Amino acid sequence: MNQLLGNCTVVDARALPVKDAGVWITGDRITAVGPYGEIASQARAAGPVVERDMDGAFVTPGLANMHTHFSLSLPGSGGNTVKDLGPHDLALYMADGARRTLDCGVTTVRNVAEKDHADFALRRAIKAGRVPGPRMYTAGRALVCTGGHGHESGDTMECDGPVGFRHGVRSQIKAGADLIKVMISGGIAGEHEGIATPQLFADEMAAVIETAHAWGRKVTAHAGPAEVIAAAVELGLDCVEHGYQLTPEVAARMAARGTALVPTLLVTRCKEFFDELGVPEWMQCRSLGAGPRHIESFKMALDAGVEILLGSDMPPFWSFEGTNATVRELENLAEHLGPVRALHAGTRGPIDWLGLSDDLGTVEPGKYADVIAMDADPLDDTSAFRGVRFVMKGGVVSREDQR
Ligand SMILES: [Zn+2]
Repeated sequence: MNQLLGNCTVVDARALPVKDAGVWITGDRITAVGPYGEIASQARAAGPVVERDMDGAFVTPGLANMHTHFSLSLPGSGGNTVKDLGPHDLALYMADGARRTLDCGVTTVRNVAEKDHADFALRRAIKAGRVPGPRMYTAGRALVCTGGHGHESGDTMECDGPVGFRHGVRSQIKAGADLIKVMISGGIAGEHEGIATPQLFADEMAAVIETAHAWGRKVTAHAGPAEVIAAAVELGLDCVEHGYQLTPEVAARMAARGTALVPTLLVTRCKEFFDELGVPEWMQCRSLGAGPRHIESFKMALDAGVEILLGSDMPPFWSFEGTNATVRELENLAEHLGPVRALHAGTRGPIDWLGLSDDLGTVEPGKYADVIAMDADPLDDTSAFRGVRFVMKGGVVSREDQR
């Protein structure tokens, strides 16, 4: 099927906006983008075409959220409800989250710890078109030392020693993991640990990274303290989650080695979300208390030139502060990066990290037609994404608000 989007401005993280643009889509991919008149006559000459007047919208690539959990269960009553779901209920709960996520304009997610390998079933169902959802790149269970960060639920796998961690990596890849997630330090949500607790020894980190790389998988690590991150970066770590306590020196090493940072700024500034889930006082104190150092750390990464990527940690679709968690986090990033770099951090940057830049990340001929539309200009103000009213993934429209 030929489709044509007209009366729009195309904006991506690559080039200047294309005003009064036409986007010609054939099947699931973009055939041409350019001045409307030109593109429209080419598309019409090729055969019947379904035309859509975008009513002056700004069209961008779909967002990519690099730190997602569809089965998140934090300590507290809300989390316990998710933890208590049986396998069938859990799968449906996650499928509902995936649909809502796509509706927010998030067409790609990187899942970094999901319960009981339900993520692989969900990924299959989305690929097969049985349920709507974003393109999923998933780590399966996160690897963690005995008693380490997140050990309490089925979204982690406890391993010990280099042999244990090698087995952990292989078992996730065997189940279908696209990447490996490992917890190398404590975090906010663990009662018996601090953010600064180192949790893996160097031989264990090396075992994870070497094994994953041998199988062609990247590794991302939940990590807080600078010393722990420094050691992992030298071992070839591909990405740091949170990075609560970086130093300028460690940030410089990350930049030099090409280690990306998904700062998840939301997690130290989301009291409303924690209250909604009944998250206990000790965790809230630790989370909100870590906020100022977290921002300082993020700025060090920014100054050092580290690649910064969008990731919410909170479920990507969660209603939060007048929008959804994904857009709210993008606004957090934009406060420091500005809207142009924020657009990169939410679209092209993640796609590059995932190794998908031949297929996604920009609105360009040959790529999948994963595009979203909004009324305001996201290059002026990232809050434009609050107004997403059209979502297309692979040429299929999943959201089109009536106006
Ligand atoms: Zn997380």
